[in-house]
Amino acid sequence: MDIHEYQAKEILSGFGVQTPVGGLAYSPEQAAYRAREIGGGKWVVKAQVHTGGRGKAGGVKICANEHDVFDAANDLFGRRLVTHQTGPDGKIVYRVYVEGATSIDRELYLGFVLDRSSERIMVVASAEGGMDIEEIAQTKPESIIRTTIEPAVGMRDFQAREIAFSLGIDAAHVQEAVTNIKGCYRAFRDLDATMVEINPLVVTTDGAILALDAKMSFDDNALFRRPDIAELRDKSQEDPRESNAMDRGLSYVGLDGEIGCIVNGAGLAMATMDMIRLAGGNPANFLDIGGGASPERVAKAFRLVRSDDKVQAILVNIFAGINRCDWVAEGIVQALEANPIDVPVIVRLAGTHVEAGRKILAKSGLPIIRAASLSEAAGRAVGAWQKSQEQDVGLEVSA
Ligand code: GDP
Ligand code: MN
Repeated sequence: MDIHEYQAKEILSGFGVQTPVGGLAYSPEQAAYRAREIGGGKWVVKAQVHTGGRGKAGGVKICANEHDVFDAANDLFGRRLVTHQTGPDGKIVYRVYVEGATSIDRELYLGFVLDRSSERIMVVASAEGGMDIEEIAQTKPESIIRTTIEPAVGMRDFQAREIAFSLGIDAAHVQEAVTNIKGCYRAFRDLDATMVEINPLVVTTDGAILALDAKMSFDDNALFRRPDIAELRDKSQEDPRESNAMDRGLSYVGLDGEIGCIVNGAGLAMATMDMIRLAGGNPANFLDIGGGASPERVAKAFRLVRSDDKVQAILVNIFAGINRCDWVAEGIVQALEANPIDVPVIVRLAGTHVEAGRKILAKSGLPIIRAASLSEAAGRAVGAWQKSQEQDVGLEVSA
C-alpha cells in the first residue's frame, strides 16, 4: 500500500527525520490559510497524488505570496496529474500540501528497499538526487552507494556515517545526516514498510539537512497489525479494479490486455499469463481466487473481471490440489447462471475430481468452451478474442 507524501513526512518526523514545516489543504482557501499559518515569504504547493515525477508534470509549484498559493492550489484541485509513472489515466488531485519553501544547496537521493537476494534491508544513496533513481542508475551508475543492514544488529552509526560521508556531507553536519538516515531506517523496520524514498534529501543553503520529498509503501500482508498505517489508505489513488478486489479478499492486478484470467494460485496465474502471450494475446488482469474457490468467490471473481470493459474473453484455469474440480465447476455454473456473461468463457480444469468437474460443466448446458490443457485453453481464449475483433471490424465496415 502506498501513502501520500504528507503522511510519510508525518511518520518520518516521529522518527526524528527533519522535514519542512507544512500543512494539508482540501481547498484553495485552506491552502492560502496554511501559507499564512506557516509564515515566511515563499511556499511550495504540492499535489498529493500517489506518484513520483510530480515536479516535471506541474504538480509542485513555488509561490511568492498568498494569492499565488491560492491560485496554484486552485489550478491543482481536480486536475488529473499525468506523470511518467501514472500511465495515461493519471491520478486526480484531491489534496495539496503547502510547505515553507526551502533554499536548496544540493539535492541527494536516499532510499530504503527490501533486497531479496541478500534478504536484507538495503540503503541506496546517491549524491545525484532530484532525478529518478532509474535515471541515475542509467546515467551515473558509479554514483550509487548500496549498503545492506544486518538484521540482528540493525543499522550501526558507522554505516550511516559512511553513507553521509560518501554523499559529500561536511563533518559539521554528519551527525544531523546520521539522525535522518537512521530515522528512515527505523521507520522502515518498525512499520513493515517495503520502501522509503527521500528524493531529494537536501542540504539547504544554511547547511541543514532536510527530507524535501518522502515516499513510503507498506506490506499489504502486514497491515492487519498496523491499523494506524492501514487507516492512511486513500482509495481515490488506487486502480478501482484493484481496490474492489482487495475489499473482497481477492488478489487482483489490473493489466492492459483483453483476456481476463481467473486462476487459483499466483504461480499458476503467472504461467497462465505467459501462455496467453505465447498464443498471441494479452492478459487483462491477474486474479488469484486462492485455495477455497467457493461458488461465492468464483461469482465475485467473474463480476470483477467482467467489470473491466476491455475484457473480451475470460480464461478460467484451475489446478485443484487441496481444492476439488467438482466444487469449482459447481461455482462456475452457479456464477454464470446467476449472472450470464456476454463474452466467451474458456475453462480448463485439472487435478482432484477432474472428471466429475468436467461432467458438471458439460451437463450445465452453458456456453462454456472447455479445454483439456493450458495451452489449448490459452489458444482458445486468444482465438475467441480475435474472432470478436473481426466481428467488430465487420460491423464498422458495414455501418
Ligand atoms: P516529485 O517530482 O514528485 O518527486 O516531487 P518533489 O517533492 O521531489 O519535488 C520536485 C522538485 O521540486 C525537487 O527535486 C526540487 O528541485 C523542487 N522543490 C520542491 N520543493 C522545493 C522547495 O521548497 N524549494 C525549492 N527551491 N525547490 C523545491
Ligand atoms: Mn521527489
